Amino acid sequence: MNLDIISIGDELLIGQTLNTNAFWMSKQLNAIGFAVREQTTIADVEEAILSALETSLSKSDVVLITGGLGPTNDDLTMPTLNKYFGGSLVRDEKVYQHIEKLVTSRGFRMNENNKSQAMVPDNCTVIHNANGTAPGLWFEKGGKVVVAMPGVPYEMKVMVSDQIIPKLKAQFDLPEIINHMVYTQGVPESMLAEQIADWENNLPETIKLAYLPSPGRVKLRLSITGRDRDLLQSKIDHEVEKLEQLISKHIYSEENEDLASVIGEMLLKSNKTIVTAESCTGGYIAHLITRVAGSSAYYKGSVIAYANEVKINDLNVSVNDLDSYGAVSKGVVEQMALGVQQKMDTDYAIATSGIAGPTGGSDEKPVGTVWIAVATPDGVTSKKYLFGKQRDVNIERAAITALGMLQREL
Ligand code: AMP
Ligand code: MG
Repeated sequence: MNLDIISIGDELLIGQTLNTNAFWMSKQLNAIGFAVREQTTIADVEEAILSALETSLSKSDVVLITGGLGPTNDDLTMPTLNKYFGGSLVRDEKVYQHIEKLVTSRGFRMNENNKSQAMVPDNCTVIHNANGTAPGLWFEKGGKVVVAMPGVPYEMKVMVSDQIIPKLKAQFDLPEIINHMVYTQGVPESMLAEQIADWENNLPETIKLAYLPSPGRVKLRLSITGRDRDLLQSKIDHEVEKLEQLISKHIYSEENEDLASVIGEMLLKSNKTIVTAESCTGGYIAHLITRVAGSSAYYKGSVIAYANEVKINDLNVSVNDLDSYGAVSKGVVEQMALGVQQKMDTDYAIATSGIAGPTGGSDEKPVGTVWIAVATPDGVTSKKYLFGKQRDVNIERAAITALGMLQREL
């Protein structure tokens, strides 16, 4: 069953508003068994709306539209849909009363714009908008469904979750879709592909595999569609088992994408604590860790040792080693980890020291050189990485890589 999403709004096309609606709707509708065929983003222009609708209706069973339902002149979705479906606008008493209640409760009086929003096509089903004035419109034509909703994300989301999805489920015989995620860290996409090539080439045709890389990580998604959920699940499980054997050391989770919270669960379970000493990541690892609710149970804090004097005074790093080998070196990063572990009396510690760029590199230590150390109750290990030239990406990759190193120690 195919579904199209049409996002209407000039603000989306000039880069003023991020199209989060299409992103969110795709996820929700895919999860209930629709194949999202196409997302289209268009201007508030009648011709563009008509042509997008025509195309989508010729190829998909369901078309979800957001945007352009406001009461002002720049919003054209309602009159255009009314024209397309050949209805006439009539006043909907329930919608009128809802708008009146909302408007007056906010201390305003009903004006013509508000009143016009209660005028809806007489050949659609009105979808109640619990959080705003613009109602949703559900049209049907030749067994196909077109739903128009307001662009405001929280209004649209409540409508989709509470009304649109139940109605679509009741109306269409939807297949089961299983998306199984495997989250890996510490291996580039190309190497991962090489390691699992045989397995990938022998996957049954019904299972689709996707590689989704981001700095320091690659997500693998295995998807399957069909009727019998148990059968689909057993097919996926069978392949995942084989995959796990091939790349177990790179997998950090199959449920949770957030590496910091995976680590948090491990620390909680083993009743251990951790601390960080960050130079080139400047507190970013601390941010990732403390974003996780409940992290105070295992995270003690961080020393942001950006300057050498902080490394010396607060982390006990040797002045000699700093002079001889520089801040971005094995000896210094290991001393940082051990220093902060001892100072804060924790089981584990992570330390980073690197050249994030874009300046500060040398032939010997080019931009992107990062040393990362992990101190455990049994000692300290460290590794040198060569990331890229881009500062923000280097910081992100260093932080994720450090968390990955810790996860493997745990
Ligand atoms: P509208 O329903 O066109 O009046 O849109 C109302 C507001 O919703 C706009 O000002 C945008 O801020 C927001 N909006 C509209 N379309 C989207 C979209 N596709 N994704 C995220 N926000 C949107
Ligand atoms: Mg708009």
